Amino acid sequence: MCSNSDQQRNKTVLVTGASRGIGKAVAMQFAREGYKVAVHYNSGTAEAEALVAQLIQEGCDVMAVQADVRDSAQVQHMIDTIMAQWGVIDILINNAGIAQQKLFTDITDEDWHNMFAVHVDGTFYCTRAVLPAMIAQKQGVIVNISSMWGQVGGSCEVHYSAAKGAIQAMTKALAKEVGPSGIRVNCVAPGVIQTEMNAILDPETLEALRQETPLEMLGTTAHVAEAVYYLCSDKAAFITGQIVGVNGGMII
Ligand code: NAP
Repeated sequence: MCSNSDQQRNKTVLVTGASRGIGKAVAMQFAREGYKVAVHYNSGTAEAEALVAQLIQEGCDVMAVQADVRDSAQVQHMIDTIMAQWGVIDILINNAGIAQQKLFTDITDEDWHNMFAVHVDGTFYCTRAVLPAMIAQKQGVIVNISSMWGQVGGSCEVHYSAAKGAIQAMTKALAKEVGPSGIRVNCVAPGVIQTEMNAILDPETLEALRQETPLEMLGTTAHVAEAVYYLCSDKAAFITGQIVGVNGGMII
């Protein structure tokens, strides 16, 4: 059941890439805590609509919004749609992402540009579109989803690591710029989380990663959602510009 009992909980949240995986878990957590949640998707129409239908049935206030985050016009249209409906976006979670494993020398121009378009351009477009209203109201919270590979680099994932590293640098720089406007910007860097994204990894690789992790387990979408939720809450009012690892101790 969705609750809606205190001031914090009337806020509006946009979660990108919420049709499945981590974004879905984040959207569900905010919605069930009583936030109004815009469930963003790109191609996963059926998944997003099913999630929205389920949450509405639970009494939550949610809507589905579509955009390819690589396209600034589509992103602006999405933000305008949410603003027209709810008048404000208090919290933005830049989560939409893709993965690809390739030897560095096999990465094509298209692979490289697409990786940056989804992660870096997408984070830039969504953030730029929500910021003017956040600055005007002198409050707002942004959480960017990076990866532990953005911190330490992943073999055969150089383009992914570079894009995720860029998101971390964007987080730190923007936190400094908009802190005086009352806006906090943080980053969550997950380790290995069990989602469809990791379907590219075979079971032996996943087991090896599990054994390599000090806590000897793989992460769940709920682990990431809890960290994101905390960073957006007033309990984290003095936390900005940080990269928070949710990785079982793999990267310390
Ligand atoms: P996932 O299950 O593959 O879901 C990816 C989401 O991103 C989907 O909702 C997808 O939307 C959306 N998306 C992809 N390309 C898009 C585009 N061009 N425009 C708009 N949306 C797009 O992935 P996940 O595992 O939950 O990962 C979520 C985030 O966490 C990503 O940024 C990922 O890099 C990061 N991360 C994941 C892990 C992990 O182990 N899973 C670890 C570290 C970091 P549609 O399906 O609707 O197209």
